[in-house]
Amino acid sequence: MSSDKISSLVVVGSVALDTIEAGPPTKRETRQDVLGGSASFFSVAASYFAPVKLVAVVGEDFPREHTDLFAKKGVALDGLERAKGKTFRWSGRYSDDLSSRTTLDTQLNVFAEFNPKLPSAWQSPDLLFLGNILPTLQLSVLEQVKKPKLIAMDTMNLWIDTARKDLGHVLSKIDLLFVNDEEARQISGEHNLSLAAKAIIKQGPKTVIVKRGDSGALLFHEDKVFAAPAYPLETVSDPTGAGDTFAGGFMGYLAKVGNLSAESIRRAMYYGSVMASFSVEAFSLDRLQDLKHEEIEARYRAFIGLTHFETLKPL
Ligand code: AMP
Repeated sequence: MSSDKISSLVVVGSVALDTIEAGPPTKRETRQDVLGGSASFFSVAASYFAPVKLVAVVGEDFPREHTDLFAKKGVALDGLERAKGKTFRWSGRYSDDLSSRTTLDTQLNVFAEFNPKLPSAWQSPDLLFLGNILPTLQLSVLEQVKKPKLIAMDTMNLWIDTARKDLGHVLSKIDLLFVNDEEARQISGEHNLSLAAKAIIKQGPKTVIVKRGDSGALLFHEDKVFAAPAYPLETVSDPTGAGDTFAGGFMGYLAKVGNLSAESIRRAMYYGSVMASFSVEAFSLDRLQDLKHEEIEARYRAFIGLTHFETLKPL
């Protein structure tokens, strides 16, 4: 492998206790104070491929079983601060078809004073993921790191509405943006997704990945587009964190293969989709936390089988 080998992966984001109302219309369920947050989904998904270093904050009430889960997955926790006060809480309700959600409540708690600090040994990551947090916090992380080979980020409608200037500043400094279709439209002012991606690329990132729920994901890079489908699941319980899980599978796979070739990035799109497909099958990280490598590989093959065909001779 060349000296360009990639291995270390750092994520900065939210670790939360979520309250969620979701499930199929026939079996709506509410789950209270379950493990959530962008960095939680990301790091557990990525941990199946490569070691992950987590930078986040939790409060005194954060259950030990969740830190035990991260530790069991080999997630390094030197950057997980335990601050005085309560853990960040978010609650949301999904529509019956799970295609849209309403935020019911956001309690910043210890997140309000969060000032991410990367341990000194973590300040030269090969891959850096800036999970969905306040853009000024994402900027402060960028000031602490030395030349990652790939800086990726995620964001949300809240910051596009309330912190657009800072968000623009972060966008100008990163390589890859993960967004959902609505956010891509909101950032760019373009309805058409190809035009939206083009407009975002003009603001900084060389690559944009647009996540489209059960319509799959599109990768835009230079003048090329690559599509990965979503798996047609029979059971979808809770879409929370699907995007962060996608990013975790994507970046974890890149850390594992150790390069950023076009081929690896395409495979990473599929591994991102594979991990997201598991995540939505159950609430919180219930399905994601106990996967076997054989299950991941079997679903990867099932994904390939969805779209692969031999070119047929014309009839
Ligand atoms: P996603 O479904 O990919 O949008 O991610 C959902 C996760 O984002 C949930 O687990 C929430 O805890 C977390 N979240 C929601 N709002 C915020 C926020 N304002 N800042 C950071 N994380 C958030």
